[in-house]
Amino acid sequence: MNPAELLAAIDRESAACTLCALQHSRKHAVSGEGPPEAEIMFIGEGPGFHENEQGRPFVGAAGKFLDELLAGIGVTREQVFITNVVKCRPPGNRDPQIEELQACNDYLERQIQAINPKVIVTLGRFSTARFFPNAKVSQVHGQTLRVGDKTIVPMYHPAAALHQPSLRTAVENDFSQLPSLIASAREIQEITPSAYENTENPEQLTLF
Ligand code: URA
Repeated sequence: MNPAELLAAIDRESAACTLCALQHSRKHAVSGEGPPEAEIMFIGEGPGFHENEQGRPFVGAAGKFLDELLAGIGVTREQVFITNVVKCRPPGNRDPQIEELQACNDYLERQIQAINPKVIVTLGRFSTARFFPNAKVSQVHGQTLRVGDKTIVPMYHPAAALHQPSLRTAVENDFSQLPSLIASAREIQEITPSAYENTENPEQLTLF
């Protein structure tokens, strides 16, 4: 299957998913959206009210702010892939629970494999914890971390930033780095195959 077909399969599977209790309260699963060849992937927390209604990620207030942040760096939503760590809305927008995160993990893993983005932006603590279980967003936001051939950039969740003006500035600053990060990540991917040929542990994390 090509990347578009892989993403379509994940979309169908998540719509019919019975792996956790969120199946009972969802109106629409929200697998994510964006081009299969996207260079940047944004991973949020989970669908909220509007996302659950429409079956699309980040279409409420946080989504409008995300659109503004993207526009600020000259990027449109159509150029990036946007998804969440859980594909179904936790009731009342509560935090996703460990068994829900685990149940959904394979969908996210397959999306990352299919898209093979150069840069993954984790929005908020749950998606940041997926890559860096012990990191605090307040300490690592805006830093670039490399896992294998991918650059991961943790950021504050747009919803948190909407409510706290100081975080808003931080998230705007972190976004402003993205264009140059993409450019560097392109170079990293070009050198990756030979650079890793003799590496014992290519998944080793490096902070740079
Ligand atoms: N918040 C998220 O984390 N994801 C969405 O899709 C919408 C709001």
